[in-house]
Amino acid sequence: MPITLATTVAELRTEGARLLGSGQGTSQGLVPTMGALHEGHAALARAAVEQNDVVVASIFVNPLQFGDAVDLDRYPRTLDADLALLEDQGVDLVFAPPVEEVYPGGEPLVRITSGRLGEKWEGASRPGHFDGALTVVAKLLHYGLPAAGVPAAGLPAAGAAQGGLPAYRAYFGQKDAQQLALVRRMVADLNFPVEIVGVPTVRAVDGLALSSRNRFLSDEEREAALVLSRALRLLEERANAREPLDLDSARALVESQPLVALDYFDVVDPETLEPLAENCRETPFRGEALALIAAKVGPVRLIDNAPLSS
Ligand code: AMP
Repeated sequence: MPITLATTVAELRTEGARLLGSGQGTSQGLVPTMGALHEGHAALARAAVEQNDVVVASIFVNPLQFGDAVDLDRYPRTLDADLALLEDQGVDLVFAPPVEEVYPGGEPLVRITSGRLGEKWEGASRPGHFDGALTVVAKLLHYGLPAAGVPAAGLPAAGAAQGGLPAYRAYFGQKDAQQLALVRRMVADLNFPVEIVGVPTVRAVDGLALSSRNRFLSDEEREAALVLSRALRLLEERANAREPLDLDSARALVESQPLVALDYFDVVDPETLEPLAENCRETPFRGEALALIAAKVGPVRLIDNAPLSS
């Protein structure tokens, strides 16, 4: 079926209900994006299409999560190509609203607060970013609720098809590990009736994590940026071999690249994102962790991460 484009919430609801066949469908997936789509987004869409009867993708560049107006202005917008990519993956419906549809009264007075988890790492460099991101994710999760709606008696359990209600799942990339951890916390802390599904990071063949911002890298900067995934791979190899992670030498590798200005590089608990002091230096690595890295390469801020397990 050709993909349908909705630009208003009313159209989204009508089309969503039509696609779910007035309650015949048993599951709905939502894939929130900011557009400028690449293979990473395609992987999210494919996972959603495999697991759900109806799949909605959203494309919305959320002003609330940009601290810098220039960054917001120059964020790439490629709607036609995005629609073609989503149609190829089998997405049914795209919600691409204008800013006034999402924030009809201007900036919302009441917002989601990301708390301690949103103040560290990316949050430290981008104050307010995660409050803005979670606020729009909360709105998108509400817009995307399957058309059967929420029963008056209360919310169904996360993601479950209950009492004739379709199951509801939303898909986020592990590429944005802090965002994923925060969305999981928001959904748990505030009882959103949705299952959050994390999808592994998609990389170019040379290891660079795909990102809509990579297009702003010169050839030389792109080559330099490979040091991020190389450093993460070093840690992965040491974790797999149950060796000390020796984060200091991995950090030195990144710092030896003159075009790369390292912001942070640490090994953290996957849920709390608190640094794991234990596993970094002399002791052999054991358990589950996440290596997080962020750096500025030329004009572009890049983030990447690797799950570690041993
Ligand atoms: P964005 O359009 O950058 O807001 O990203 C939309 C969704 O796609 C987020 O859940 C991202 O984590 C996810 N995503 C972005 N890049 C990748 C990638 N390389 N691999 C997997 N997921 C990604």
